[in-house]
Amino acid sequence: MLEECLFCRIASGEIPGDMVYQDEEMVAFRDINPVAPTHILIVPRTHIASLEGLSDADEGLMGRMVLRARALAAAEGVSESGYRLVVNCGPDGGQVVHHLHMHLVGGRRLGNRLG
Ligand code: AMP
Ligand code: ZN
Repeated sequence: MLEECLFCRIASGEIPGDMVYQDEEMVAFRDINPVAPTHILIVPRTHIASLEGLSDADEGLMGRMVLRARALAAAEGVSESGYRLVVNCGPDGGQVVHHLHMHLVGGRRLGNRLG
């Protein structure tokens, strides 16, 4: 855990988050500034700064995060209407919080533009 990292602190329970899922390797909580009715962040408990910080050993973790996002989409009732998974990486990718996270966004029709 990185003491100064916001998402490490939320994952450990030190800072409250609107949790929707927790297990031994990841947590999921609602984004504090949602861009759609469903906006959930899926976050590994381990501090990994970004996609660039992943190693081969994280292959399973990333797969389970995607499958967890799909399960959360079902729980939110947006499986049929659709949703988007986004991982921002680095300055040009628009990453603001430097702890890996996946956005699950749904509940309204999203635009086709990615940037
Ligand atoms: P990114 O631009 O991919 O780094 O996204 C960071 C996201 O974290 C943004 O959508 C923020 O609204 C969200 N965020 C920042 N602080 C918090 C917080 N304390 N709890 C929940 N979400 C947060
Ligand atoms: Zn962290």
